[in-house]
This record gives sequence, C-alpha cells and structure tokens, in this order.
Amino acid sequence: MGDFTLDQIADLPLDLLIGGKAVAASDGGRFEVVDPATGAVITTVADGTVDDAMAAVDAADAAADGWAATAPRDRAEVLRRAFELMSARADELAHLISLENGKALADARGETAYASEFFRWYAEEAVRASGELTTAPTGANRIMVVRQPVGIAVLVTPWNFPAAMATRKIGPALAAGCTVVLKPASDTPLTALLMGRILDDSGVPAGVVNVVPARRSGAVVSAMLHDARVRKLSFTGSTEVGRILLKEAADQVVNCSMELGGNAPFLVFEDADLDAALEGAMVAKMRNGGEACTAANRFFVHADVAEEFSSRLAKRMSAMRVGPGTADDTQVGPLVNQEAVTKVTELVKGAVDAGGQVVVGGTRPDRPGYYYEPTVLTDVPPSAPILREEIFGPVAPIVTFTDEAEAIRLANDTEFGLVSYVYTGDLARGLRVSEAMESGMVGLNRGLVSDPAAPFGGTKQSGIGREGGHEGMLDYLESKYIAVTW
Ligand code: NAD
Repeated sequence: MGDFTLDQIADLPLDLLIGGKAVAASDGGRFEVVDPATGAVITTVADGTVDDAMAAVDAADAAADGWAATAPRDRAEVLRRAFELMSARADELAHLISLENGKALADARGETAYASEFFRWYAEEAVRASGELTTAPTGANRIMVVRQPVGIAVLVTPWNFPAAMATRKIGPALAAGCTVVLKPASDTPLTALLMGRILDDSGVPAGVVNVVPARRSGAVVSAMLHDARVRKLSFTGSTEVGRILLKEAADQVVNCSMELGGNAPFLVFEDADLDAALEGAMVAKMRNGGEACTAANRFFVHADVAEEFSSRLAKRMSAMRVGPGTADDTQVGPLVNQEAVTKVTELVKGAVDAGGQVVVGGTRPDRPGYYYEPTVLTDVPPSAPILREEIFGPVAPIVTFTDEAEAIRLANDTEFGLVSYVYTGDLARGLRVSEAMESGMVGLNRGLVSDPAAPFGGTKQSGIGREGGHEGMLDYLESKYIAVTW
C-alpha cells in the first residue's frame, strides 16, 4: 500500500455503533487517535458516555431474544461470512492496526490472520453447544443438561491486539447466542470500529454487536456492570484493572472471564537445541515488539549454555530493523505511547542499577515517536523489578541457573501464571517441567502458543476462564440442569 493513510480504508466508521447505526456521542464528545510512529493525531472518534453505554445495552437487550433463537447454523453462517470478509480485507486491517498500534506490518498481518480464525473456528463451534443426558445414580430419573446463552456480554479489550482480542470474544459470544457491547481500548478504537462494520456487512442483526469507544472507561464499564440485564463480563487487560472490574462485577454477581497480565519465564536447559531455542526466543520475545501478554519476560538459561545463548540472542536483536510499523521492511515498530517508553526505560535502569549488564540496546533511538531499542540484559539479580513486572517492550533480561529444581523455582516465583516456555532435548524432562509450571499454558520447544483452537488463559493472577477452543464458547453458556422423570 506504500505510504499508508486512513483514506485507503473503505467505509471506516468513526462514530459509535449502537443498534446497527453509527451515532455520535450523546454529548458530542470526540477523542484523538495518535500514530505512535510520529506522535501525530490520525483522526478523532466519538467518545462514548454512560448514556451511550446504556443505549448500547438497550440495543443488545432488544436483539437478545431474536439472536438466541436464531438457528445455530444461521449464526454459524454469519460468523463464516465475517471470517471471509475479514480475510478479504486483511491488508487494509493490517495497515490500520499498524497505524494506530505501531506494530510492524508483519506482526499486524499475523494478528489479522489469527483474529479472523476466531470467526472461522466459532462458525464451526456454533453448531456444537451440546448438552448431556445421563441416568441418575439412583436410577430414579434422568439428568438432562442444556446449554443456554449466558446473556448480554460486556467485552473490554486492550490495545496490544486490537483485532484479535475483539474477535476472540465476539466469535464465541455470537456462536453461543449472546449479544454484546464492545468497549475497545482508547489507544486503538479504529480497528474495533472497522470490525463492527465488517460484522454488520456479514449480516449480524442490528444490536447484536455494539461498539462503544470511551475515554471514561471506568464510568462507562461500571454503569454497564450495574445494569441487571448485563450477565457477562469478558475482560482482557492488566491485572490491576482486572481486579477493579472483578469488584465492580461482584455487585450484580456478573459472570466474569478475565485474561490478565503475564510474566512468562523462558527456560533453556543445557540439552536444548540452541538454534531452535533462539528462534523460539525471538518469537516469544519480539512478536508484537514485546507488547504481548504472552511475551517472554524472564529468560532462565543453564550456565553451560548461557554465554552462547546470550551472545547469539544479542546479535539477532541488534540486527532487527526499527522503524514505523507501516513501512514494509520494519521488524520492530514503536511502542504504543510515551508511558510505555517511560516504563521500559525505568525497568532497564532499575536492572542496571541492581547490577545487570547491557549487552545490546538499553536506549531510545534518536527519532520522533515512541521507540525503544531491542535490548538484551545479563546478570540481572532476582530482586530487579524487571523480573517482577510485565516489561511490555523489546527487552530480554537473562538469568542463569544450574539445576532443574532451581529453574522451576525461579520460573514459578511470580504472582502471574499465563504462559511458560521450556526448551530441552529430553522429552521426559520437558513434560515433567511443563507439569511443574504454574501457568495456564506451556510452549514446549515452541515460542508461540496462541491458537484459536486451543484453550488460552492463565492461572494465579493472570486470569479466570479460557478463550479459544471449545472451552471458549462454554464461557458464554450457562448449563441448565433439568431433572426429568419420564
Ligand atoms: P488496561 O488494563 O490498561 O486496559 C484494558 C482495557 O480496560 C482498555 O479497554 C481500557 O480502556 C479499559 N480500562 C482501563 N481502566 C478501566 C477501568 N477502571 N474500568 C473499566 N475499564 C478500564 O490494559 P492495556 O494497557 O490496554 O493492555 C495491556 C495489558 O493487557 C497487559 O497487562 C497485558 O498482559 C494484558 N493482556 C492480556 C492478555 C491475555 O489474554 N491474558 C492479552 C492481551 C493483553
């Protein structure tokens, strides 16, 4: 697409999507969307108010019975069309994601493909919301279980995967027969609004999917969670905000699925295939420029191979081309905003102050926009904040270990539990260590775990519930048990 501008996107909506109509905010408010590669304003979008959020819940409520009663096959066909339309518009979507989020086009293309797969997967799952029928142990009656849509779902998504985090929720919700209100992140509302348009073009009835960008996210989401018609919250974002929303949801006992922060360990044992471990490390660390909840946050490498691993990783990291995400040859785009740069800068400084060594990077490139150099740190002491917090940037801190038990202890020494990566040539050790990891997912000799067909989610303070796979749809279904005598 060459130098990309917004005019290249056909029908890009910039207003709220409520009840199938594009509407301005009730108070006329708008907010700016910024290009992280330059800091320049790209455009403005309607800034939803509490009244708008309530109007969206009204629309979702009006559409709820009709959508729940729609034949599963018909819901599946709508999702299948959404998959096809997203695939047809993949290039436009990828450019839009790069523009507002900053990620490199290759990452944005990867996200677009991943995101559209959720519509295909849930088109296939929509017809499989099977129940159960058994005979009670006493033999007196039958135990019948039917699955019913949980009800209106509020979906709150982060900026780091603006398309995929939306489709990972909308796909299963629609397959299950729920209607939704999506509140996208304020840094990346454009992709969400375009997704709303694509769903509309796919034949989703008015009111089934509503999209309400809002800068006053706290007030808007809280109001929806206090409306008795809302029965589901699916949130992806930081653990900090997740905690607030769990408390908000408690008042009306709203069913919650929470995909929260991570602090993934990446273990390299002395018997690992180092070429494969390096490939995996580059993917686990640098996909999305490090701005992924699944990003490898702490590298634990056996002392026998630590020097070779560190120097080869540093070479790969320093060779990465940093630039605007929308440029074809960029491998690492800018971070999302200035706060992200400040956070990464402080974490690296903290690691160095604690005795860590900068092997490569460790600074901001001298250019406008929110950039940070790909960075490798060694000799990072366990107390350094960089090992305790999500870095969310292109920085790889390396710590050495000498035995398996120590590696497991170090890896599990965090309140997070989203994903762990384990590299070893010994399958028995790989499975043993995978079982010992306190995380919802493990990449065993793999640097990428995300797959629409697999249950994605965390343990400990990384979350509750699973997205993707068959389990992802169960999160939007209630089991109703009917005791039957016949
Ligand atoms: P965030 O928690 O700041 O924001 C997430 C969403 O919540 C946004 O839409 C935001 O506007 C909204 N929000 C913020 N404060 C709110 C409040 N008080 N009430 C209601 N809504 C509020 O997260 P972020 O910075 O957008 O995203 C990065 C975080 O998301 C990281 O912690 C990352 O690990 C996490 N994440 C997790 C997964 C996962 O699947 N586990 C996936 C992607 C990102």
